[in-house]
Amino acid sequence: MEMITFKEAFGIVMESAFETDAETISFSASGNRILAEDIFSDLDMPPFNRSAVDGYACRRSDLNNNLEVIEVIAAGKAPLKSVGKDQCSKIMTGAIVPDGCDIVIMVEDSEALSSGKVRLSGRNSKINISLKGEDVKTGEKVLQTGKLIKPQDIAVMAAVGHINVLVKKLPGVGVLSTGDELVEPSDSPGISQIRNSNAYQLLAQVERAGGLGHYYGIAPDKEDITYEMVQKAISENDIVILTGGVSMGDFDFVPAILKRAGIKILFDRVKVQPGKPTTFGVHSKAIVFGLPGNPVSSFIQFETLVRPLIKKMMGCAWKPEDQKLPIAAKYERKSAARMAWVPVIINDNSEVVPVDFHGSAHITSLSDADGIIAVKAGTKTIEKGEIVSVRKI
Ligand code: AMP
Ligand code: MG
Repeated sequence: MEMITFKEAFGIVMESAFETDAETISFSASGNRILAEDIFSDLDMPPFNRSAVDGYACRRSDLNNNLEVIEVIAAGKAPLKSVGKDQCSKIMTGAIVPDGCDIVIMVEDSEALSSGKVRLSGRNSKINISLKGEDVKTGEKVLQTGKLIKPQDIAVMAAVGHINVLVKKLPGVGVLSTGDELVEPSDSPGISQIRNSNAYQLLAQVERAGGLGHYYGIAPDKEDITYEMVQKAISENDIVILTGGVSMGDFDFVPAILKRAGIKILFDRVKVQPGKPTTFGVHSKAIVFGLPGNPVSSFIQFETLVRPLIKKMMGCAWKPEDQKLPIAAKYERKSAARMAWVPVIINDNSEVVPVDFHGSAHITSLSDADGIIAVKAGTKTIEKGEIVSVRKI
């Protein structure tokens, strides 16, 4: 199979996306989910002419007259009287403005007279009345399907009484490590062994991307056992990610296993560094990634290929939120044959500094990094001050 460019790989991955179903959940638990219905208001907002201040409701033409206070209107209480000439009602913020008034004067602009009446100044005052329906009319659409639900949106749902909300299901993502050399983080590696860092990194990446991660453990470098584990993961998830076993080693069985499991392989090598041996395929039940075993490669392939896919499957338009910043010093690389993703730090002067990076297993370098930048194939150097796009990681 031919090695393809990162851009081609990205296109193939995004085209394979299918949208997950929707489910109904409580509005209060819907933060960070994708809205799967339009929401309409069941009332006018405000629902009545509402006082915006604590003060006196009266007629503008009566300002500077001595006014009789006929009632005190608290928020949550309906006025009992309508206000006539040279009258006013004391009113609290959020209360219904009584009939007969066209303005509410703030307490600060009132003077209590010994007669028990009040005198109101503020002839140039705003009306301080929020008019019924001025924000939203009954039946008006207040939230649009497809949006990422923010805390502000939950306020809108609360206000219109939309307590059960239809959202996109979180894509289920199965994660499976492969490699006879791997032990779990709680174990002490023997000679020739290392701890499984990929699976936990990936599960955290899945969660950050908005997916629902499921861990399937470490598959040994044995075809049959790995095959069984892959089958199970495919039947239970929308996306399955395997790490390791995709290179040219004698025990790299993953591509063969994927084929045996009925997965149609769409690419198996990408002109990108790190991450060349990335394998990608589709099955009627799930989309499958065979990511390289090295943790830096697997991390970067996830961020650049899997994360956008998860977003798309959740029905959320994915766009990279890249930051354009200058590079702090000249950057050079030995070979420009492949496009590269380079981990970088943003320094205190908002300049980009590539991290000291020994290769695809150097996980602490990634831990230091604030982002990654793309260096195009054919580009060997980036001059000091040149603007680069930093994708936050
Ligand atoms: P592989 O693609 O299986 O040849 O693995 C490439 C490199 O990544 C080898 O050095 C592996 O030991 C390492 N590796 C594979 N899987 C993991 C993992 N889950 N966590 C950490 N390192 C891994
Ligand atoms: Mg391996």
